[in-house]
Amino acid sequence: QAAFRRDLARLLELIGTGKESLSFMKKRIRHLAQQWLRAARRLEQKLAGRHRDQKHILIHIGFLTEESGDVFSPRVLKGGPLGEMVQWADILAALFVLGHSLRVTVSLKELQSHLGVPPGRGNCPLTSPLPFDLIYTDYHGLQQMKQHMGLSFKKYRCRVRVIDTFGTEPAYNHEEYATLRGYRTNWGYWNLQPAQFMTMFPHTPDNSFMGFVSEELNQTERQLIKASKVSSMAVVYGKEASIWKVQGKEKFLAILNKYMEIHGTVYYETQRPPEVPAFVKNHGLLPQHEFQQLLRKAKLFIGFGFPYEGPAPLEAIANGCVFLQARFNPPHSSLNHEFFRGKPTSREVSSQHPYAEDFIGKPHVWTVDYNNSEVFEAAIKTIMRTQVDPYLPYEYTCEGMLERIHAYIQHQDFCTTSSLLPSPKTKSPAMQSPPSLLALSPNATHLVWSPSAGRVPQAWPPVASLQVWVSEPQHTCTETCRRHGLVCEPTFFRFLNKEEVFLQLSIACDSTEYEMNHLYPAVAENVHECYLQKEPLLFSCAGYNTKYRRLCPCRDFRHGQVALCRDCL
Ligand code: UDP
Repeated sequence: QAAFRRDLARLLELIGTGKESLSFMKKRIRHLAQQWLRAARRLEQKLAGRHRDQKHILIHIGFLTEESGDVFSPRVLKGGPLGEMVQWADILAALFVLGHSLRVTVSLKELQSHLGVPPGRGNCPLTSPLPFDLIYTDYHGLQQMKQHMGLSFKKYRCRVRVIDTFGTEPAYNHEEYATLRGYRTNWGYWNLQPAQFMTMFPHTPDNSFMGFVSEELNQTERQLIKASKVSSMAVVYGKEASIWKVQGKEKFLAILNKYMEIHGTVYYETQRPPEVPAFVKNHGLLPQHEFQQLLRKAKLFIGFGFPYEGPAPLEAIANGCVFLQARFNPPHSSLNHEFFRGKPTSREVSSQHPYAEDFIGKPHVWTVDYNNSEVFEAAIKTIMRTQVDPYLPYEYTCEGMLERIHAYIQHQDFCTTSSLLPSPKTKSPAMQSPPSLLALSPNATHLVWSPSAGRVPQAWPPVASLQVWVSEPQHTCTETCRRHGLVCEPTFFRFLNKEEVFLQLSIACDSTEYEMNHLYPAVAENVHECYLQKEPLLFSCAGYNTKYRRLCPCRDFRHGQVALCRDCL
């Protein structure tokens, strides 16, 4: 039984010392300690004594090991990326507060010793059973584990959770398919269950949304912030001077400077960075809590297009700023942008921060075309006049993150569910599953869970939340479900990967084939050809092709907690 922890001192000892990145994480954990503990008490009340297993967990932060180059630690004090460190600090805090037993490693030697790899031997099966129920790591750590566990890696990989900022779509994860279809990248092809990858934002429901937290304000702080906002103060998003090299900045900066005092937190050594214009008040890189103080005064937090999808815009919005960002037209993706090239996703990024755009929106978030000076100027003027309250989505509060990780730990089991799924080698896997559990909705637009269906299959999320919608040809299942106020739920694909489902939806099939394709089940409507999925690992919410309309499994979700359905806790 796991017991909620009442203080974080032991965790700080577990994290160790000797790297700037570790000091950054510990400082963050110390600063947020009271919030974590308060959130734990609230969740404890909510769960009302429900049994929770205590897990033995190894946390191996691969990108901080010397063996993978550790390029981040030396950049912590120089404006380098901090988002990953923010997230790992929060994962450590959440797992600890939930009462699990943790081991933390940031070197290969420690990893080997915890795994039980005998010194001097690599790539051999482990001599004793793995002493961990779960291992949280990243792509670097995964590679190291594969190298040092020999055949045991295959046996134990179902216990691994991969912290993967931008996500890994199923088409890139399946080795054979990725190789055949040109989805092979430096990172993908691990043949894990796609939900074992855990992302920074809810990018694709194929992966699990891990997230991080932002500081919450109490009522007094909220009042204080509202009273002390300077409506003509803007802070620019980005710690590295290179973000100021953006094309066309002269035009939009000149407009912004007409109305607002512009502040920056750009790292510099001795002199002002030449990229930052003289009219900008540059504070240099600030410690995290001082950066928050600056945001409390500012009215506007403005993005120049890079960095993509970091924590700072959420912190700005939580501190009562409006976040203004550029719309990307065409969207950026691994097909057209250097930054995303080689990342195992085809996701189209429509602005610097799509989560802020899609999940938060106005009045907190404005996404506009920076090349259109009139639109840009009008946005600045309206933002300056508008009163906006501090806002933090529940899923980014400490309680929200604890609730989500608690649910994953109690319910996600990739070691037994993977064996329940039909084997990829079977010819027509889904044909073996029981008859339909679905019925046509009263208005005949989609299928819903049939209350009269016989035995209810054991599943998490519970199958009762399932709705099946057919996509438009130009839409992914992620988009299709979103348009119906729902979220795509890949674990439900197995319930609709059946010939009879086409029939129930009055889709005429002249032929039905089982094939390996991440867009299936789907119908090529003009030729009446129906396709079912032969490979369960390829079930995917992501992806579309104008040739097909896809069958999409959707479910409801909790307000402010998209990872969990209403009955998922
Ligand atoms: N940050 C900071 N000092 C600053 C500016 C930002 O400590 O002067 C922190 C900020 O609080 C945020 C973190 O840097 O939590 C990462 O922010 P960002 O969104 O820039 O993501 P990154 O590109 O660093 O991953």
